[in-house]
Amino acid sequence: MIVKQIWTGNAYRNFNYLIACPETGDALAVDPLDYEKCLAAAERNGWSITQVLNTHEHGDHTGGNKGIVAATGAKVIAHENAASRIPNMDIGVGAGYVVKVGRSVELECLDTPGHTMSHICLLSRTDEPGLFSGDTLFNAGAGNCHNGGHPDELYETFQQQLDRLDPQTRIYPGHDYLINNLEFTLDREPDNAAARSMLDTFRDQDPAHALVTTLADEREINTFFRLDSASVIARLQEDFPDIGDQPDARTVFLKLRELRNSW
Ligand SMILES: [Zn+2]
Ligand SMILES: [Zn+2]
Repeated sequence: MIVKQIWTGNAYRNFNYLIACPETGDALAVDPLDYEKCLAAAERNGWSITQVLNTHEHGDHTGGNKGIVAATGAKVIAHENAASRIPNMDIGVGAGYVVKVGRSVELECLDTPGHTMSHICLLSRTDEPGLFSGDTLFNAGAGNCHNGGHPDELYETFQQQLDRLDPQTRIYPGHDYLINNLEFTLDREPDNAAARSMLDTFRDQDPAHALVTTLADEREINTFFRLDSASVIARLQEDFPDIGDQPDARTVFLKLRELRNSW
């Protein structure tokens, strides 16, 4: 499996992806908002984009479909419940559906509600597993729930699915929010040395050559995976004294998500 991360350079800081089969040159475009950059990258590498996958229905993820399909005839895949909101969707999928790219690439669809209620994350099960996480999981952060989502569902997705993946899974999110999110982590957990060190190292990184974290990294630097951290809980009690000394993981997650909304 070859993964090409494409930095759009737009105001929303979107990442687009091409996932290619090295044997056949077939490629899947994930959320190809900047379709011209995606088409150019495919051409440079000699790949044919035969499929598009939208992680969810928001316009900054689906807005390039038309341009890609016009140029390539690619089929559009998305969550089965997003059909009414994604024009010209060809294939509706749910949990367990396997997207095949060429001969050698297989990607499993995870049904991951929370950011919206029809959100797919794509998991490659290769020697080096990768998760294309859309707006569910960001580097050092979690998606918001303002536009059709629910924080409770997002918590369930983190606990029941993401937190159980192989620690070596590489994380390919839908946006570059690394620096902002690390600053939020440090606001919540000022003694988090791993987050401090990553922020110092990558503060001025070029998103066109962005750091790719693993799930193991995320467990250290992403406050939404650090629900039992004593310093996260102590700091949270300053804002929410009624949570007590031993709040459950769901309460911590929901309070962190609430604080992040206005942070
Ligand atoms: Zn979104
Ligand atoms: Zn987005």
